Amino acid sequence: MSEIIQKLRTTQNLSDEELKLILTTDSYDEELTQNADAVRREHYGTDVYLRGLIEFTNYCKNDCLYCGIRKSNQNLSRYRLTEQDILECCKEGYALGFRTFVLQGGEDMYYTDERICNIISEIHKNYPDCAITLSIGEKSYDSYLAYFKAGAERYLLRHETANTEHYSKLHPAKMSCEHRKKCLFNLKKIGYQVGAGMMVSSPFQTLDNIIEDLRFLQELQPQMIGIGPFLSHQDTPFKNKPNGELKPVLKLLGILRLMFPKVLLPATTALGTLHPLGRELGLKTGANVIMPNLSPICVRKKYMLYDNKICTGDESAQCRQCTEQRAKSIGYQVVMSRGDAKDFEKR
Ligand code: SAM
Repeated sequence: MSEIIQKLRTTQNLSDEELKLILTTDSYDEELTQNADAVRREHYGTDVYLRGLIEFTNYCKNDCLYCGIRKSNQNLSRYRLTEQDILECCKEGYALGFRTFVLQGGEDMYYTDERICNIISEIHKNYPDCAITLSIGEKSYDSYLAYFKAGAERYLLRHETANTEHYSKLHPAKMSCEHRKKCLFNLKKIGYQVGAGMMVSSPFQTLDNIIEDLRFLQELQPQMIGIGPFLSHQDTPFKNKPNGELKPVLKLLGILRLMFPKVLLPATTALGTLHPLGRELGLKTGANVIMPNLSPICVRKKYMLYDNKICTGDESAQCRQCTEQRAKSIGYQVVMSRGDAKDFEKR
């Protein structure tokens, strides 16, 4: 094995220069994949955890320059799911074997803390053996605490980019990198299993930005890391920016698996959109989570974060089955447990 991959695997760290070398040299790719897979097998075997994704609102008060559901997109028909709709999705998901529900949406002020807490409590009451994950953006410490007390245990909030200057090129002036990072530390402090992550090949991203992302993740030590390629959306200011490519995402998945051996690492829908076998390749390079869609079929096409998003026409049962087959085709198997992070100690 080359020295550099050996060092990354044994010390879970490398210098900036060494990381850049892996990111820019294709001759390490095969070894990186093999080692990432070996480390994933050490901790998680061939298990792939499933998360049932419920995209419950596409209203958003933010105007992120890359995102298809940004406030300024007038070409989008907006929707909100009721508490009853969400519970229906959970019911269907539970019957299909899901034991984690991820509630994701834009930052929609209609869902006050009281409404969010009610939704969480209802899911918790009906499905006490399931984990509830939230992905609803930047909130106050007290709001995060209220959701946690109501029964949410995990929170996904990608930091998007850890570099302040780069962050300001992707977001309007009123959003800040510092605030997003602060939210992540608040979530950790409260006791959530936290997921951070970045878009790969987002406009203006440099190699140094990626190193900064990795350093930020080392500081945060999240339980989950969600990364995927930037993909353009026709109704955003970034409509003409090039889509990310497969290789950098796979390289980063491999590096992340070796840097954070026990982390939960999804093979994302964006990766599957980029390449027909993107998620399979992701799983083979250290990823161990897939998030099939449980949203009602009538709203799927409205949660269009980027163009050509996959799985917008399939029923939940089809998504569930398709995921199972994809994992099986490459020698892994989906498991329907809650799939908590291995190193997470509940308070
Ligand atoms: N509002 C919540 C938040 O800000 O975390 C959750 C919803 S947000 C739409 C979920 C994720 O979608 C973002 O963290 C971002 O990384 C990803 N996303 C949005 N637009 C994208 C694009 N054009 N390409 C790839 N990923 C995108």
